[in-house]
Amino acid sequence: MMKKDLLIIGSTNIDLVVYSDTFPKKGETLTGTHFQQFFGGKGANQAVAAAKMGSQVTFVSCVGNDIHGESALQHLQENHIDTRFVAVDKQVPTGVAMINIGDGGDNKIIVVPGANGVLKPAHLGAVVEKMADYEYIVMQLEVPMETIAFMADVAGRYQKKLILNPAPAQPLSDQVLANCYMLTPNETEAEAICGLPVTDAQSAGKAAQQIRAKGVEVVIITLGENGVFVSCESFEGMVPCPKVTAVDTTAAGDTFTGALTAFLNEGIALENAVVLANKAASIAVTRAGAQASIPLRSEVV
Ligand code: ATP
Repeated sequence: MMKKDLLIIGSTNIDLVVYSDTFPKKGETLTGTHFQQFFGGKGANQAVAAAKMGSQVTFVSCVGNDIHGESALQHLQENHIDTRFVAVDKQVPTGVAMINIGDGGDNKIIVVPGANGVLKPAHLGAVVEKMADYEYIVMQLEVPMETIAFMADVAGRYQKKLILNPAPAQPLSDQVLANCYMLTPNETEAEAICGLPVTDAQSAGKAAQQIRAKGVEVVIITLGENGVFVSCESFEGMVPCPKVTAVDTTAAGDTFTGALTAFLNEGIALENAVVLANKAASIAVTRAGAQASIPLRSEVV
């Protein structure tokens, strides 16, 4: 059987990153150490991660009619991503994320959605017509909830496997959850969905069970340097990740979800795909930037 393309729908941002030794307190002005600009947005990061792992990716997004949108599109195309369904909106700017890296690799982020906020179901008609080309659909929560709800219904109707990375943290309706095949939250995101705090393997197990009770087949809670907690019918437990020295955790979660979905789309079994995705994400945290930090397949497999 011919391998299907991977459909990823989500945000495109330009990341404006300032580095400082500490984080500023309220009202304080700090002198940073340096500044860099990166291609980001959870959708685009996951598209690039999957493409770097060797998937043929179709990416659906919305950018502004500006220099940031133009360069983001060009960058996606340089990563061999099919951008024919990316809309260019004339009214709003391309999304930006202001990122402060301080305190040895931790980050604080403010995202201004811009064009991501107008990616509506009306943009998705053309790709829905091509649904037979895809088996897996990947989404995150940086586009309007009505778009996520719409695609969740489409996934249910066409019997496609929707993998939702529910970031940034917000609650999800039972209807959306019932149409998700897999969820990949971090600790905070898992708590926003099920109301239970997640701090370790035991609490992750309880949260994952609650989420699975809503109809999600596989729940994978990412736990930073500890790896991930996997919960599905055949396996329940921690899968640790390689020990590394973290310099910038931006896009760690995106690298994990993007790489995982690429390996699943390739037909690799879940338990092996998780190990490889953990490895990809642990490499990403040793490097600066979002998409720039994502490793190539040859570094992972
Ligand atoms: P971010 O929002 O910074 O992208 P996240 O909170 O969504 O990250 P995390 O749980 O922090 O996601 O990390 C995702 C994955 O990245 C982890 O499951 C692990 O595989 C890898 N990872 C993160 N931090 C580290 C670390 N310090 N050392 C090794 N691997 C890491």
